[in-house]
Amino acid sequence: MSSDDVSVVEVGRAIRPYLSRLLDDPEEVARLDGALSQLLNGGQERMTADARLIHELLTAHEDTQWFMEQVLADIPLLRPPYHQRRSTPRQPDDRPSLGGDLGPVEADRFACPHGDYVDWYRPDVGTPVPRCPTHDVTLVRS
Ligand SMILES: [Zn+2]
Repeated sequence: MSSDDVSVVEVGRAIRPYLSRLLDDPEEVARLDGALSQLLNGGQERMTADARLIHELLTAHEDTQWFMEQVLADIPLLRPPYHQRRSTPRQPDDRPSLGGDLGPVEADRFACPHGDYVDWYRPDVGTPVPRCPTHDVTLVRS
């Protein structure tokens, strides 16, 4: 099992909370989430084959492919694009931009103990820790 396979499997876990934002069709969201959940609960010994199938599922849509590419570029954390800090582009005259976007807040990785669902989230904003939709258990910080 290569590190690429591990990364693709991580994308499969991390994209699940965002599928309904990435895709317009609720039926396709449910189909894709179900397929990912099944693959991610398939057990370690099948991970190389699963990584290939996850890659195939996510390249079927432009927006999920974009998400996958963004996560795979965020080595080693593999965060969703919405949680990656980007450097602020400099102005042409090299002054820092005023009132610029400071970027997303820092988030921590929370994962289902069964290893099929990951959500990046900031723990101190008073919202409850997310639950795994497949196993209905509270995600744990990892
Ligand atoms: Zn789970």
